[in-house]
Amino acid sequence: MKPPLRTIGTMPTSPFLPAPVMSPVAEGSATHCPYCALQCGMHVAGGAVTPREDVPANAGGLCQKGWTAAELLTSPERLTTPLLRGRPATWDEALDFTAARIRAVQEEHGRDAVAVFGGGGLTNEAAYQLGKFARVALRTSRIDYNGRFCMSSAAAAAGRAFGMDRGLPFPITDIGRADAVLLAGGNVAETMPPFVRHLTRIRDRGGRLVVVDPRVTPTAALADLHLQVTPGADLALALGLLHLAVAEGHADLGYLAARTTGFEAVRDSVAAWWPERVERVTGVPAARMREAVRILGGAERAMILTGRGAEQHAKGTDTVTAFVNLALTLGLPGREGSGYGCLTGQGNGQGGREHGQKADQLPGCRRIDDPAARAHVASVWGVDPGDLPGPGRSAYELLDALGTPGGPKALLVFGSNPVVSAPRAGHVAGRLGALDLLVVADVVLSETAAMADVVLSVTQWAEEAGTMTNLEGRVLLRRRAADPPPGVRGDLAVLHGIAARLGHGHRFPADPRTVFDELRRASEGGIADYSGITYERIAAETGVFWPCPRSTEDGGPHPGTPRPFLDRFATPDGRARLVPVEHRPAAEEPDEEFPLHLTSGRTLAHYQSGAQTRRVPALNAASPAPYVELHPELAERLGVEDGETVRVRGRRGAVECAARVSRAIRPDTLFMPFHWEGVNRLTNPALDPVSRMPEFKVCAAMVERLDAPAGARGKGDR
Ligand code: SF4
Repeated sequence: MKPPLRTIGTMPTSPFLPAPVMSPVAEGSATHCPYCALQCGMHVAGGAVTPREDVPANAGGLCQKGWTAAELLTSPERLTTPLLRGRPATWDEALDFTAARIRAVQEEHGRDAVAVFGGGGLTNEAAYQLGKFARVALRTSRIDYNGRFCMSSAAAAAGRAFGMDRGLPFPITDIGRADAVLLAGGNVAETMPPFVRHLTRIRDRGGRLVVVDPRVTPTAALADLHLQVTPGADLALALGLLHLAVAEGHADLGYLAARTTGFEAVRDSVAAWWPERVERVTGVPAARMREAVRILGGAERAMILTGRGAEQHAKGTDTVTAFVNLALTLGLPGREGSGYGCLTGQGNGQGGREHGQKADQLPGCRRIDDPAARAHVASVWGVDPGDLPGPGRSAYELLDALGTPGGPKALLVFGSNPVVSAPRAGHVAGRLGALDLLVVADVVLSETAAMADVVLSVTQWAEEAGTMTNLEGRVLLRRRAADPPPGVRGDLAVLHGIAARLGHGHRFPADPRTVFDELRRASEGGIADYSGITYERIAAETGVFWPCPRSTEDGGPHPGTPRPFLDRFATPDGRARLVPVEHRPAAEEPDEEFPLHLTSGRTLAHYQSGAQTRRVPALNAASPAPYVELHPELAERLGVEDGETVRVRGRRGAVECAARVSRAIRPDTLFMPFHWEGVNRLTNPALDPVSRMPEFKVCAAMVERLDAPAGARGKGDR
């Protein structure tokens, strides 16, 4: 039961919050885009954005989202005051109420009854502080974040192969030096358009691009070779490519002997994946597979990159592992101009998972169940290691448990919109509705914030200083380039305010540089070691690559590590590990009732749940509503016209949207963008056993005209 509002004021009000002393280097017009992991450099001044030339990721380019980013700062939909049960409130009222309810819930149900859900767009400082807040101020194990829905499969696979999870273990400019690139499940031409210049450099030099995707995306249209794989079959395709690489003599046996372990077992495990068998499973012609392997195997320098299309599956970790096995067999990782990399999606997807938001991690990519890691981090935090909670539950498992017997009764959400972005989203919205307390910190009234008891109006990108780590592992400085509106506070100040009311204010400073200096100490000696990185160095060097220890062995400043695998991998013996993996079908295959595959992805104009981009007029005009893409053959069979409103059904729900008839999609597959409430009501929360990634990228569905007879409708569990 939700308590009445009269509980406001049961806590002491207005603990002293010193005004942050902003470092001069952390203020100025040179900053970075609020959206994706390319983190394009831009200047923000006079209410307008201009691209920076000095940031290698974009080097003077921006996409439409970046060009219009300044409109977010003045959006009429901006939250400018906290809300309590929908009514404007003072900060003291909102924070007093939040802290009082946290206390009450924990006294009645225990510490784990309060949970925290973070976001991959938070600065490193906010992500770090949120993880510490959960473990020290709340002492709850229940924390995870939406990056679990983004990068976790690639992170798990890279960790087990290389001993380190860094999206691109090389500078992004290395991509343009390769002679061949295979991109599996990434549509960069729409998600991060300035990235395309790195791919076109390959073509300009006579190199070749291979794209694996069920759709003829704008990225696939750029490719020399497109492998239009059946949704859910990327793993079988990777096994088939590896079989061919071995059979056609492309295995680099000298490299495998010197730098890896496990090749023989992997070679034997793919022996039965004959091209003709793979063709039946994947729909990709054997001749195209042979061509792809010849392109990769014949290149002097080659790269294999994966994106969400290959990763967001209940077997995502094994799928990425299979592509890593292929890269290792060809001798690519750890060679300049070659390698394997994963394309991070969210703005701080990389840094956000390094510093403690993840249920099983402490800062520096340390494991929370490692006694040495606990002792180190506890010493920085000034607490007893025994007081730190253990591992919590992964994002979907956490959301699924909300409001259930024994599950969390209160949830604090920072920078995330799970009502739109979680799998089986209708069910997740129901679980959020069952909470005693939902607190959401956001810049606009997102679908999740609209359900909250308390909404905390926080600063956004150009209004706050902090660091972000882009898809290359380059730590960047996001400067404060604009003043926030009155009535808005930064994430760090919000955490300080709640912590102070819980008796821990002294542990939670609100100044980003102070927090970053603590993060540096907490990460020191970890895999993601930031201890040698300072705001000044980032500003002077346009970013610093981690790992960057405090000093080199001879005591000089460490230069950072653009290419961490040139000499050895980050495993105990320095060798990369090939791991045999098995293909299995999608968790939910099409059947008589739901005969189609449904997959999802992004459009050019929008970012993630659309909470920000749907509020930018130019972006909304470019892409105003959700749709379902279907092939003309399927449309004709169903009698569906282009633009007609149709119903898409799956086992977990149904949505209505416009039909977009297109030859870009396979006849057996539907595609829907995920920037609106809709497709994730249908997606499958089946989880990868290692990464706990839900199977966003494929489920069974059907599409019907709105006047279809009721008897033809599927059952669905809603
Ligand atoms: Fe660059 Fe991504 Fe921003 Fe577009 S959305 S400008 S690609 S950082």
